Amino acid sequence: MKLDRSRVLALLVLTASCAFAMSAGQVASQSVFGFSDFSEQAKIEEKFLAVPDATLAGQHLKILTAEPHMAATPEDRKTAEYVAQKFRTAGLDTEIIPYRVLLNQPKTVRVEAFDPNGILLMRGPTPEHVENDSGQDNPRVVMPFNGSSGSGDVTGEVVYANYGRLEDFNQLAAQHIDLQGKVVLIRYGSNFRGVKVYLAEQRGAVGVLLYSDPQDDGYFKGDAYPNGPWRPETAVQRGSVQFLFKYSGDPETPGVPSTMDLPDSARIRDHVGLNGNQPSIISIPISYHDAAPILRALKGPAVPQGWQGALPFSYHQGPGGVRVHLVSDQDYQRRIIWDVVGTAKGSAYPDELVIAGNHRDAWVYGAVDPSSGTAAMLETVHGVGALLKQGWRPKRTIVFCSWDAEEEGLIGSTEWVEQHSSELTKTVAYFNVDVAVAGPDFGASAVPSLKEFVREVTRAVPSPLGGTVYQQWRLRQPANSKPVSQVPGEDVRMGDMGSGSDFTPFLQHAGVPATDVSSGGPYGVYHSTFDDYQWFTANADPHFVYLQEMARVLGLEALRMADADVLPLDYAAYAHEISGYITEAKRRAIDAGMSSLDFAQAEAAAARFSSAAKRIRAREVSVSGDLVKLNEALRNTEAAFLWPNGLPNRPWYRHTIFAPGETTGYSAVDIPGVNEAIDAHNSELAAAQLTVLATVLDRAAQTLNVAD
Ligand SMILES: [Zn+2]
Repeated sequence: MKLDRSRVLALLVLTASCAFAMSAGQVASQSVFGFSDFSEQAKIEEKFLAVPDATLAGQHLKILTAEPHMAATPEDRKTAEYVAQKFRTAGLDTEIIPYRVLLNQPKTVRVEAFDPNGILLMRGPTPEHVENDSGQDNPRVVMPFNGSSGSGDVTGEVVYANYGRLEDFNQLAAQHIDLQGKVVLIRYGSNFRGVKVYLAEQRGAVGVLLYSDPQDDGYFKGDAYPNGPWRPETAVQRGSVQFLFKYSGDPETPGVPSTMDLPDSARIRDHVGLNGNQPSIISIPISYHDAAPILRALKGPAVPQGWQGALPFSYHQGPGGVRVHLVSDQDYQRRIIWDVVGTAKGSAYPDELVIAGNHRDAWVYGAVDPSSGTAAMLETVHGVGALLKQGWRPKRTIVFCSWDAEEEGLIGSTEWVEQHSSELTKTVAYFNVDVAVAGPDFGASAVPSLKEFVREVTRAVPSPLGGTVYQQWRLRQPANSKPVSQVPGEDVRMGDMGSGSDFTPFLQHAGVPATDVSSGGPYGVYHSTFDDYQWFTANADPHFVYLQEMARVLGLEALRMADADVLPLDYAAYAHEISGYITEAKRRAIDAGMSSLDFAQAEAAAARFSSAAKRIRAREVSVSGDLVKLNEALRNTEAAFLWPNGLPNRPWYRHTIFAPGETTGYSAVDIPGVNEAIDAHNSELAAAQLTVLATVLDRAAQTLNVAD
């Protein structure tokens, strides 16, 4: 479900060329982080890179997107079998693993709007429809709805709340616009939709209407599908409104795997409401076709600056002028989902795992989200299979995972992580893809220790535009993205790990270093019927060469991490970033009038962690000393950042350096315990969280020092 708007870029004009600008000899002559002598590995990588095939990736995509395949449906099961068959053909030891988890499917979703005289202004939802789309008439296309929505029948006055960010709700409060008993109309964008609903429920709203304003992904951006890539008038963004920032996964089993034999008595009952991870109010997603009559009729004050969207009239905040009647009948059942897991056993360190994964379930066809990821991963597996057939074995075990029910709340991955927590202490890294290909612009997020690793991998993969993925990445970075930090060598921008995809349980619950890679572009059909094969081949990747590119990137990540002499985890870079986060938090504390807050202890611990990391970094580069002890220390360091009791008010999230923001959801908050306490002007909590931070940084330093 991951969608980071900063990656939806305008296309730059570049001369396309398919030249493979680099030979294996050039790679072999480079020194590569983690290897004392790269020449053997270079040969393996050269063999691997030759296998992922664009045409085959296109075939996988066509088969995976032949039918809508929402989690827990028969069509989803069929895609699980397809993936499992490809895993087995490649020689992976393959299992389809079922879990029984709480999911809603919609029975009735209805929206009606009336003027003060009771005259009907609109009745919806209007079916998603454009001229000449081959997928839209399939009866298995699920009606637009929100995963985790409440059921009910409510009528209320409407208030418009822009993007539904905390500052938008604060603005309404400052104007004394009361949300008690109201229906809040909110546009998609800027934060995770579950945050919008959470903030609305907190303020007493009885329902939420989420709509896609054409300013954000419709005609304001460019031509709409089928003439271009942007969102057409009737297209709706489905999606989960789970309170993901509380915990991910099955709402009834935080911290516990929802295995088939888990008794109902082991499932919690207070998962609904502001203390659980599901809203109790109704939330319904609509198109701008259906939102326009409501917005047009809305009275009240004119909207503040920045709240006006691209519909052709002036927006008002409400209330007044229009009442809406919402009906949502959600069928909640414990349903069976299927993860597919395929393993290539390591020859030297079989207990150590390198995991690559993406989700397989889609709201409808999901050509970009997530089938482009699955198609790419299947070609990665094809390449690994070719190596296995030649007798090669990875040094560490490589595990490929095809997760289910990610769209409903990262459920398949979370339950698997919760089930395998003991083996995961020996997991070296988790490499995610999700929205793998929407266009030609490479992008990545990573924990700081893996940023150099991602850069190195992309230097070894050819770009369909000519040169390497790395060179094109550097060339095509948006000029307006945030400035490059001062880390030496960091010349391409990489995001931090927030949430919105399956890396969350690995990193933020289990303490496994993670990356997420994608190839972005103009993409306006996210979570609508029109994210289908026809849209993909017209707009994203007609010749499937970016699927091939992503297969190669994901594959090299897995191969290099599995075979490295020294795990290529750069904790000196991590320490540098953490010190920056502390400096920034200190500045924010002063701005918030909390200048008495004492950062000295955390700063000193960060300095100790930094000097330990620099010593280790020198040994990693020279590949010297006791490598077994060195690798063990490196492997355990990310988990040292976990605090067993978790973050304040959300114990499932245990990572003290990165968490999804409580009011942003997708994007990361760094040192979340400290920063969120500062935001809440809670000095006592901020001080306690600074102590927690100092403790984990010292623990991380000690973990590295064990290798000395
Ligand atoms: Zn997705």
